[in-house]
Amino acid sequence: MSAERYDAIVLGLGGIGSGAAYWLAKRGARVVGIEQFELGHARGESHDHSRIIRLSYVTPAYVALAKAAYAAWAGVAADADEQLVFTTGGLDLGPRDGAIPLDGYAAAMDACDVAYERLDAPAIRARWPAFAIGDDVHGLFQADGGIVAAERATRAHQRAARKLGAHLVENAAVTAIAIDGGSIEVQVGGVSYRAPKLIVAAGPWSAPVLQHFGLTLPLEVTKEQAIYFAARDLAGFALGRFPVWIWMDDPSFYGFPEFGERDAVKITQDAGGRAVDPDTRGFDEDPAITARVTEFVRRYLPGALGPIVRLKTCLYTLTPDRDFVIDTLPNHPNVSLAIGAGHAFKFASVIGQTLSDLALDGGTQRAIGDFALDRPILQMSAPPKTYMV
Ligand SMILES: Cc1cc2nc3c(=O)[nH]c(=O)nc-3n(C[C@H](O)[C@H](O)[C@H](O)COP(=O)(O)OP(=O)(O)OC[C@H]3O[C@@H](n4cnc5c(N)ncnc54)[C@H](O)[C@@H]3O)c2cc1C
Repeated sequence: MSAERYDAIVLGLGGIGSGAAYWLAKRGARVVGIEQFELGHARGESHDHSRIIRLSYVTPAYVALAKAAYAAWAGVAADADEQLVFTTGGLDLGPRDGAIPLDGYAAAMDACDVAYERLDAPAIRARWPAFAIGDDVHGLFQADGGIVAAERATRAHQRAARKLGAHLVENAAVTAIAIDGGSIEVQVGGVSYRAPKLIVAAGPWSAPVLQHFGLTLPLEVTKEQAIYFAARDLAGFALGRFPVWIWMDDPSFYGFPEFGERDAVKITQDAGGRAVDPDTRGFDEDPAITARVTEFVRRYLPGALGPIVRLKTCLYTLTPDRDFVIDTLPNHPNVSLAIGAGHAFKFASVIGQTLSDLALDGGTQRAIGDFALDRPILQMSAPPKTYMV
């Protein structure tokens, strides 16, 4: 059987793989992207209307990557002729003694020359009366925070990639991978594709794909859920008036202004889901998450409390330290890999761009040392887990 030949193969066309296909094609590479389900499916990590994008992050490496993320989205938006990022301002808030201290975020932004405001509870209540918080709460406001229109952005990557000549194949699971010297052949049913470079962006299916290379990582796939409440006081949550926000405590919650679903606001818990197998996970509600989120809303955002009008389940692929993996494989430098650790959509385009650097240049100018595969925690079989970010 003869193989179709390309410069690069992208395995997985969710948020990150679609970004990689776009940036590879933009750099002139002949690229094939392969997706096991239909493009835009809801079985992985990247569906639904919205994801938070923010410069406010816990280390300078993330803040620097977030700056590059905004630039990357601007490029895609221009190519796709569509707005993909909606700036709302971003508010990190929580109890002064909360489990996720704000000082680290402030220090990382200081190190990267990012402007922000420190707000006490009266200032937060005055600006956004929807927050029914006590005086023990404080916050950081960063004006560039906002929303990436997730499904729209993935479609934009795919559309722009195709326009640049990328061949995107859907409903095609990669079932075999053979490495032969500098050449990689992947098999999809009766068809095979060959290229000198492979990019793995398999999200929750990273573990079975990495098995083809004899690589095991301590990953945990969890089933999360987004909850849309028909807010009683919708005006207080209008886009343009209300920010994206993250509750910096354990449990951690986050939410959006009205966006994507009419007359409803999305609020949920971060990393509150149970471990699942991505092939058998089911799509049913996790009542424990619903209960925790509803209680939080009742206490701190009572104007958002109303009937739940939509509930969407979605997967996280978690590393034990919640940091990304962006690297080439130790014994196969022509294979690069990204794992998003449940907070990567905002970075989907810039990670895709970085993967295109790794594939086409053998390295990247971006500082991705913190996301290396050889970090000690990824070598442990039962590592300690820290999922708060
Ligand atoms: C509820 C929820 C809320 C989130 N909120 C935010 C947020 O506010 N901000 C933020 O930045 N991030 C957020 N995230 C995280 C972010 O969405 C993910 O990190 C990101 O979407 C990961 O994209 P991915 O491409 O790695 O995974 P996926 O989108 O799952 O893509 C992987 C793809 O690979 C395909 N694939 C796997 N194996 C094969 C194979 N063998 N052959 C062919 N195809 C294969 C899969 O079918 C899949 O389409 C959230 C995630 C969830 C679930």
